Amino acid sequence: MLNRRDLLRSLATIPVVGPFIGSGIGRNGLSPDIVPGRDYFKEIGVRTFINAAGTYTMLTGSLMHPEVIQAIQYASKQYVSLDELQDAAGARIAELLHCEAATVTSGAASAMSLGMAGVLSGIDPEKAAQIPDLTGMKSEVIYQKSHWVGYVHALRNCGVKLIEVETRKQMEDAINDQTAMLWFLNYSNFDGEVQWKEFVEIGKKYGIPTFNDCAADVPPVENLWKFTAMGFDLVCFSGGKGLRGPQSAGLLLGRKDLIAAARLSAPPRGNTVCRTNKVNKEEVLGMLVALEVYLNRDHKRDLELWEYQIKKISDNALSVEGVETEIHVPEIANHVPSLRITWDQEKIPITPSSAREILRKGHPSIETMGGNKSIDITTWMMNPGEERIVAERVKHVLKNART
Ligand SMILES: *Cc1c(COP(=O)(O)O)cnc(C)c1O
Repeated sequence: MLNRRDLLRSLATIPVVGPFIGSGIGRNGLSPDIVPGRDYFKEIGVRTFINAAGTYTMLTGSLMHPEVIQAIQYASKQYVSLDELQDAAGARIAELLHCEAATVTSGAASAMSLGMAGVLSGIDPEKAAQIPDLTGMKSEVIYQKSHWVGYVHALRNCGVKLIEVETRKQMEDAINDQTAMLWFLNYSNFDGEVQWKEFVEIGKKYGIPTFNDCAADVPPVENLWKFTAMGFDLVCFSGGKGLRGPQSAGLLLGRKDLIAAARLSAPPRGNTVCRTNKVNKEEVLGMLVALEVYLNRDHKRDLELWEYQIKKISDNALSVEGVETEIHVPEIANHVPSLRITWDQEKIPITPSSAREILRKGHPSIETMGGNKSIDITTWMMNPGEERIVAERVKHVLKNART
């Protein structure tokens, strides 16, 4: 029999003791809260990087607050009933966010599937078990063309047909006795003819539930209660974007009867469409604690820090002749200071793609956005201090490329 120490030794087949391991300082020298010990990613040869891009699933989203990790560790050591936990956490979240009811899902996309399933089944477990076969149930969801986004696949998982419209008139004409739900993409509010309040009004006029996808829409913090208060019947948020909860968690908020109905399609119930969207006690508790932490943050200070960091990177880039920068805050979704760096390619003959690739391949690796048009940077997903490295590296790459 192996004792614990032998076991640990045998697991650590690849020696990874570097100069910083054990000192509690991360490889970039800036992350003192990394637990000393095994360097798991390094062991399996997986690159880590400074996230100068933002909250992207392909880049593993956001970093959880230490309080969230603590809650996850706490939850990992004891058993609870999953339904009892979801009931209690949901009640607490609803109280915090001033809505009727809430439940923790495995992400905003999962919240879309669950909410959709609840709308379709109502509180009939047999109907829930029947989805995505919608025989005898309503089967259509109406949305505005400018609100299309690939994530609507999460609705289609429930077997519904999506009906695309462009105007209020088309929307009202499209409503019929098969219409199950009206779906809205929050960040496209200003792109569609029917905006928030009018959309909710139409739903109420015809007695059809409305769903608002707010996945990436904190900050500002008030969005967490604004849209349920406005009258949307269901609203969802990602847990792992601005909230910095578990990346595999999200929130479904809204009407009590619809949340209860959605739960019929949620684990532990096995014969349901959303059995594939499991969250366990760790994510449920982690999500709740992330929300508490987020609500208690000094949002003004967060904003000031991001502004300072963005300006620092911008100033460094601007020190290279031929470079231009633009700082902006998107009105909705990823509503944080964002930097766009472009340059005169006559003076600095390197494409944005190549510059971004050099940043990616450097040490430490830095991930940015912008395709082949620009280097786009946000700092809200960085560890504090990493902006200095990014500022230096961006300047260096552009300076080196000058003729
Ligand atoms: C990110 C996102 C989703 C999916 O959210 P997950 O939490 O990753 O499931 C859905 N809709 C929009 C608009 C998003 O930005």
